[in-house]
Amino acid sequence: MSTAKPVLTPGATIGILGSGQLGRMLVLAAARLGFKCHVFSPDPESPAADVAHRMTSADYSDTQALERFAAAIDVATYEFENVPATSATFLSKRVPVLPDPNVLATTQDRLAEKNFVAALGIPTAPFVAVSEAGELSPALAKIGRPAVLKTRRFGYDGKGQTAIGDGADPAAAWDGVGGQACILEAFVPFAREVSVVAARGQDGTVECFDVTENEHRDHILKISRVPAAMSATSAQEALRIADTIANKFGYVGVLAVELFVMRDGGLLVNEIAPRVHNSGHWTIDGASVSQFEQHVRAVAGWPLAKPVRRGRVEMINLIGSEIEDYRKWLTIPGAAVHLYGKTQVRPGRKMGHVTRVFAE
Ligand code: AMP
Repeated sequence: MSTAKPVLTPGATIGILGSGQLGRMLVLAAARLGFKCHVFSPDPESPAADVAHRMTSADYSDTQALERFAAAIDVATYEFENVPATSATFLSKRVPVLPDPNVLATTQDRLAEKNFVAALGIPTAPFVAVSEAGELSPALAKIGRPAVLKTRRFGYDGKGQTAIGDGADPAAAWDGVGGQACILEAFVPFAREVSVVAARGQDGTVECFDVTENEHRDHILKISRVPAAMSATSAQEALRIADTIANKFGYVGVLAVELFVMRDGGLLVNEIAPRVHNSGHWTIDGASVSQFEQHVRAVAGWPLAKPVRRGRVEMINLIGSEIEDYRKWLTIPGAAVHLYGKTQVRPGRKMGHVTRVFAE
């Protein structure tokens, strides 16, 4: 069923698994095109639930709730990639699910993801699987130091990973990531981090937004800048890589490919996010079509738009207590302020963002 290709008309209902700010911005983009959204998530109060037409608050493994959800929607998608793949597959037997749940099996597991990328002939940092404590020392001997130990599953914003430098004790690193199945990667001295947000439509058309340069603080995205400071050749190659990945998956919707740019302009894929992405938020104000609208168009079976960037763009995340200063942005000429409606401020929590567009 999940491979069925729905073509929706305005008034149809899009189901969204997950209810954070990505879901919220998807709902807003869908509403502009005349769609209704039904959000499914365990959190009854959430950024997406605040703006959705309907909300189901239930555990992702609640099959009865999933059954009712499936009956109430025309297509399902995700804003959150750690939805249990079994739940997405369960849903896909009842209603089209896009992108196909098979994609989750690859992107939820760093080892499967890296193997998938490597099999396409696309470079990554050197890596090896580490399934148990005893495998870490031989892995370190192979990869060398410094290295980064990352849990295969459920890692985000630097969680579930630890660097192993020259003097570091591997046993402490293993305990530090909770003794779970991991990959060990070479620590690569990249010049910059970039991402490509790409959309693939049901007809196989791929449209990429311009390569975005990303600056992290404490492992959390702080600023995205477009265009990225890289050669035109590297930028073209980054777009080609995203295009190749989207096509190989037979993907429908928006995905993001995170890459390291090396000093010589070479590229290494770090991660694939099978969803709209924080580094694509600039597209709401800085491009003729947003990543959210592209995703909605793709899952609705509509043609994708060709994105045109409106200038040089900067997106600044408002993280944790930075939200308390939101008023200062309101009067800055050209600043577009986006607040996610989260009432609880926590360190590291993404509370909103600001986009600034400058003449190029
Ligand atoms: P990840 O969760 O894999 O996206 O990693 C979070 C951040 O850690 C990345 O954005 C990089 O800044 C850094 N990082 C991850 N892997 C490596 C690596 N192999 N070499 C150097 N830095 C890394």
